Amino acid sequence: MKALQELAAKLLTEKTVQIVIGYEEGPRGVRPAFITRAEDADRLVFDSRCVQNLASYLSPRRNHLVPLGKKAIVVKGCDSRAVAGLIRETQVRREDVVLIGVRCGGVVRDPAADTTLTPDTVAARCAECDIREPKLVDHLIGDLPPAPPVNRKRDELIAALDAMSAEERWAFWQAELARCVRCHACREVCPMCFCERCIADKSQPQWIESSAHRQGNLSWQFSRVLHQAGRCADCSECERVCPAKIPLSLLMRKTSLIVRELFNYRVTDDPSVPAPIGAYRLDDKQEFIL
Ligand code: SF4
Ligand code: SF4
Ligand code: SF4
Repeated sequence: MKALQELAAKLLTEKTVQIVIGYEEGPRGVRPAFITRAEDADRLVFDSRCVQNLASYLSPRRNHLVPLGKKAIVVKGCDSRAVAGLIRETQVRREDVVLIGVRCGGVVRDPAADTTLTPDTVAARCAECDIREPKLVDHLIGDLPPAPPVNRKRDELIAALDAMSAEERWAFWQAELARCVRCHACREVCPMCFCERCIADKSQPQWIESSAHRQGNLSWQFSRVLHQAGRCADCSECERVCPAKIPLSLLMRKTSLIVRELFNYRVTDDPSVPAPIGAYRLDDKQEFIL
């Protein structure tokens, strides 16, 4: 993608930024790239395999990148929701980052297995995408590609779970989460998991058992899901990196749908719109408080 490479080289040459974070070909497929020299900008690529949400590298948890200087990052529309979340929650100042938006034709669910977009391989998040041309950007690259194929499997699975009795649903999630090995990869990859000290790491008092154990696994994942309510950018990165293949995006998506219903709120790429967790409304019915 020539325009992207030329823009990155220009930003580095003019010292607008000291590092451009994008995507490059790696030995096992597309991976995040950290470009600090203009002459390396031709390593940058963008296509349907670029699933990673690079907003994670803006999170204060990635403060080892701070000494490298001002960053530019490549964002798809869905990634820009995470950037907006970090700005909204005062973790990033808008003026401290240059956003290179890419017009997007969808991404695959698993770039290790698939390279072309079909209804079976496309990521579920692309099904109702209204943000293929990101707005929260400093530069916008490429022509708008055709809309991606639609994959509704995730919503069908959620509907199937909704149709279960509470006991059946509980048994389903107990069985799924029993496989968790507590690697915390889901937390590490998430742009919105930025606490300096995660509740799962606290030992005095210990809120959540730290070893892989049925009870602790449930506390861990349900704590994480609730901390993401009204904040999750729906990038599905937590599910993609989970070594136990636990369908975490079902939990995330269902939580988003509940927040939508209760608070009439969808996670947006506009950082000036407050999220329910950060806003007080006198007309809040608070029906969920028992
Ligand atoms: S959700 Fe939208 S912006 Fe994100 S990868 Fe899919 S089509 Fe692109
Ligand atoms: S919880 Fe998962 S889907 Fe949501 S923003 Fe974090 S990594 Fe992405
Ligand atoms: S990535 Fe998967 S296995 Fe690792 S802690 Fe998260 S849910 Fe558990």
